Amino acid sequence: MPIKGILKQVEGIEVFPRQDELADGEFGNGIRAPLGIHRANVHRYWFEDAGSNLEDQMAFLRGVKRLTRNDLETFTEGLSIPDSIGTRPPIKPVSYPAWNNGGFQILQHVTVRAQRSGNYWTRCPSCAREGRDRAGDNLAISIADPRFYKCWAGCTREMIRAALGQPIHERSYR
Ligand SMILES: [Zn+2]
Repeated sequence: MPIKGILKQVEGIEVFPRQDELADGEFGNGIRAPLGIHRANVHRYWFEDAGSNLEDQMAFLRGVKRLTRNDLETFTEGLSIPDSIGTRPPIKPVSYPAWNNGGFQILQHVTVRAQRSGNYWTRCPSCAREGRDRAGDNLAISIADPRFYKCWAGCTREMIRAALGQPIHERSYR
């Protein structure tokens, strides 16, 4: 039987977890439990090989072959977990030489921990100074334009710059 999702396969076996890796705070795809009601479309999902009523469904379930430990070991014999799983390579932000005019670049001062929704994510330096943001995902830095960053706990740009030892100086007109 084909595996769903590979080569645009629409029907087939689904393999969970669906993701090779997840950043801190992310969740993988949910799994619908048998006979459960889908929260979005409010349909109950029956097993297709039995009638759409509880009695037939339970009879079907009772008749399903259960795997023994031996079966499982036979099915997985010779399989191993690829070395690449579990060793997530560090995220290396691309550099932005066009903006490297000697001005402040936050990417030079933080270690990116995750990348999603168009942003790099890391621990907010200002939060860190207070012992907060242990999950390391308060600070979003725009991937498209890393001059823009925001702490979701509300630290101001001034606070973040000060925490990095790069305070924003008032412009001098002398
Ligand atoms: Zn913060």
